[in-house]
Amino acid sequence: MNKLKGLPKVDTKGLQSFIPEEEIENLLKIKSNDKILVREIIAKSLAKNRLDPAEMAVLLNVDDPDLVEEIKEGARILKKMIYGNRIVLFAPLYVGNKCINNCTYCGFRKSNQALVRKTLTMDELETEVRSLEAKGHKRLIMVYGEHPLYDPEYIAATVRKVYSVKEGRGAIRRVNINAAPLDVEGFKTVKAAGIGTYQIFQETYHQPTYRSVHPSGLKADYLWRLFAFDRAMEAGIDDVGMGALIGLYNHKFEALAMLYHTIHLERKFGVGPHTISFPRIEPAIGTDYANHPPYAPTDEEFMRMIAVIRLAVPYTGMILTAREPVHLRNEAIAYGISQIDAGSDIGVGAYSGQDEIASGKKSQFILSDNRSLDEVIGQLCEAGYLPSFCTGCYRLGRTGEHFMEFARPGFVKKFCTPNAVLTLLEYAEDYASPATRDKALAAIERETAAIPEGDSRKQILRRRMARIKSGERDLFF
Ligand code: SAM
Ligand code: SF4
Repeated sequence: MNKLKGLPKVDTKGLQSFIPEEEIENLLKIKSNDKILVREIIAKSLAKNRLDPAEMAVLLNVDDPDLVEEIKEGARILKKMIYGNRIVLFAPLYVGNKCINNCTYCGFRKSNQALVRKTLTMDELETEVRSLEAKGHKRLIMVYGEHPLYDPEYIAATVRKVYSVKEGRGAIRRVNINAAPLDVEGFKTVKAAGIGTYQIFQETYHQPTYRSVHPSGLKADYLWRLFAFDRAMEAGIDDVGMGALIGLYNHKFEALAMLYHTIHLERKFGVGPHTISFPRIEPAIGTDYANHPPYAPTDEEFMRMIAVIRLAVPYTGMILTAREPVHLRNEAIAYGISQIDAGSDIGVGAYSGQDEIASGKKSQFILSDNRSLDEVIGQLCEAGYLPSFCTGCYRLGRTGEHFMEFARPGFVKKFCTPNAVLTLLEYAEDYASPATRDKALAAIERETAAIPEGDSRKQILRRRMARIKSGERDLFF
């Protein structure tokens, strides 16, 4: 047993990394601006096939500006083809910032004296959720440090609490979690509480770097973290969210490593990750490392990486958080980002003003996009997108492998667009400012008008929209 009750029993005996680090470094040495080859690879992706590592490496290494533009254009086309105009919105909810680890880049690390420690009580959690529901949120990601207090039973209890809170017509319909890796039993416990996605970032797949930035605590064990999704999937969690913290090591290496991780999951469980994230390191209180990340890519390199990941894994959702400024988030949405957070606050207790005393000293790092949910929705609608709070797939069991089956031709038209319309209409009715309401209704009209008259779903959708206007809620396909 682990010395600290509440922490999982770490056992990595017999495990071997499936990330071929030398092979990745070699792939990154191959430079090619061969137009025919690059176009063939883009075409393979546009035929909705996952790319192989060597193909992804070619796209990552291209430096001919015209070919780079073709890669970005390919990503734009693929994004439209598979995801339509829809952008899924969520909010992070920080539950507790205590941590036994010492990740050099993170404001929550154990040795950080500048941080005020806080764990929400169940009553405080309820107050936070009421604030989020009162703004119109339907999907949350709950975030926890790694600490004996945050054991699987505690995480499960907080998730259940969130689902139980109803403010007015509001409800949180999908709770995802970002929490330290658990053992299989622990994952079963949190799954039973009804989590959607289990998200965890490897941070860096490069072992020497991993060792240097994770000097102590359970997180120092690379393999325990690398096999977290295997244990989660063994425990029956279908949707897992992968990620790398960009700035620790070469971003191209991390992008390729995530493809190898994806292939590992596909081979073993028949399905890759539900989402991929690539948070860039942001400044954090008391954390000098975060002010000077050693491998920070330029904005241009970062955007290109996003376009290449879009092409490499056509069916994987991609998340970009409010760590990034508005103009980059907008650009990245065009290249393939399918989910963003909005109206986010990452101080523990911050949504309901319970963070006031410490004013930011409970936050993990500093956000760049501080727009409200209402502003984000209005601006997305104006830019031709369709903001969505849809939780239909998860609630109808269309997850993991089943989700991948559905993610084939016509899926977006059949399910995602109508569900996005219905959830945006709820938002317009219940929460929107007058200006955002007008923009949302215009986007809804545009999207419904685009459904062919002969499509039976159009009539069903119109009827459901009428039901929402007369007060019914939570209708989905
Ligand atoms: N404690 C858990 C863990 O480490 O996996 C989960 C919560 S941790 C707060 C969530 C993520 O925040 C980390 O996986 C890391 O990628 C990211 N993060 C840490 N420090 C950051 C920083 N300075 N800027 C941006 N993201 C950071
Ligand atoms: Fe703790 Fe996670 Fe921050 Fe590391 S990244 S110090 S494990 S909260």
